[in-house]
Amino acid sequence: MFRKKSMITVLTVGMVLSSGTVYAQTTSPANGQSDTAFDNKIIKKISADNMYNTIALLSEQPREAGTEGEVRAVNYIEGQFKSLGLETKVIPFPIYDYLTKHVWVKIDGIDLDGTAPRAFSGSVSGKVTAQLVNVGKAKPEEITDAVKGKIALVERGDLTFVEKVQNVLEKGAVGVIMYNNVNGNSFGQVSEGQNIPAVAITRAQGLALVDQLKSGPVESTLDVDIEKIEKTSYVVEAKLKPNKNKDTGQIITIGAHHDSVHGGPGANDDASGVSAVLELARIFSKTPIDTEVRFLTFGSEERGLVGSSFYASKLPKSDVERMVAHFQMDMIGGRDAGEDNPAGGLIMYTIDGKKNLVTDLGSSAGARTMDVAIPYGQLGRSDHQPFHELGIPSALFIHSPVEPWYHQPTDTIDKISKEKLQQAASIVGAAAYQIARPDTPALVNAHVAPGPVDYDFDDRPVD
Ligand SMILES: [Zn+2]
Repeated sequence: MFRKKSMITVLTVGMVLSSGTVYAQTTSPANGQSDTAFDNKIIKKISADNMYNTIALLSEQPREAGTEGEVRAVNYIEGQFKSLGLETKVIPFPIYDYLTKHVWVKIDGIDLDGTAPRAFSGSVSGKVTAQLVNVGKAKPEEITDAVKGKIALVERGDLTFVEKVQNVLEKGAVGVIMYNNVNGNSFGQVSEGQNIPAVAITRAQGLALVDQLKSGPVESTLDVDIEKIEKTSYVVEAKLKPNKNKDTGQIITIGAHHDSVHGGPGANDDASGVSAVLELARIFSKTPIDTEVRFLTFGSEERGLVGSSFYASKLPKSDVERMVAHFQMDMIGGRDAGEDNPAGGLIMYTIDGKKNLVTDLGSSAGARTMDVAIPYGQLGRSDHQPFHELGIPSALFIHSPVEPWYHQPTDTIDKISKEKLQQAASIVGAAAYQIARPDTPALVNAHVAPGPVDYDFDDRPVD
């Protein structure tokens, strides 16, 4: 799970009631076998020892995206899928690091006084000298043609950073200096294609310039030198095809992220999720199914869902239309996470805070296998997000609140609970199998098994 750094999105918690009845237990109309018997075809085969060993191996070194540690993990994961006979693909994608060499602002030839200016994230490198023009908050009506070929002095607030930069770019500005709307320095951001040096300064520095401009022209030099370093990260994809004469045409995806944070062994975050993906792949590959099951591990989750977003953006429309559920497992083995809550603190998070097919199946699987209707809540911060944005029912399975070792060098194998691994993999495995098992009709047509359970919205803090 990744930690939001500079930009914090405040999500509104949706207390939306059930999308429909949730089904658990009892008898399948198709052939009279109980759902518990079907669950057992998967969960009796799950080995927490297998999962634990995978985590031990993956957490021997950090797996930060773009490093040798990620490559080693990717090779191991692909090798495991291959040995099961799955159709595998390792999908590379670029990631970028930015090395700031210097950010200088000169006013009439003299370095700006006080706090050092800060480059906007994504700012291009460049050196420009031009007159400074005050454009207020850079709303379109505030910007005159006078800014053409000049450096725009902008106040933070009301518009996004990207909107401000776009508005002055359209009027021909060659640089942006933005001052904060509160005390201290700000951060800022430009988007792809906004090729202009842009820096942030403090409110005091900005107001001094506004004053200075009242008594005549001010010449400014903006000098930004940032090195952009391209690296490669990966998504591992493994397809398990259904029996040919029993193919519903549907696809379910089961994912986790294989990268760790810098310097962190990431035993729970998220070697635990990867271990469950591999274990379920092993079991499903020996079980008859009528649905394609696609096992995925993503790189660069910790950089802000870069791998899963790349993967989702490249999916053919014909695949997206067939995808009926995405199960994401992130941090599912933490001994010290979520302790005081039912089912070891397991919870299912959706992006919009609403129930969906995945949470319905997950909750009823919990009710059948552990006698606990797993609750749901609202959270992004993992790879279920890009799938949700494609309109695919998706949820994140995680223990919440997270453990004190979250994103620390102490996120090591000794903090992993085999019991929690077993529980989480059982619930996801049983839920996914409700769709994939051959006796159930395609989901559009039918509820897979009768017997309702209720499950609740839970807004407990995550960290
Ligand atoms: Zn994380």
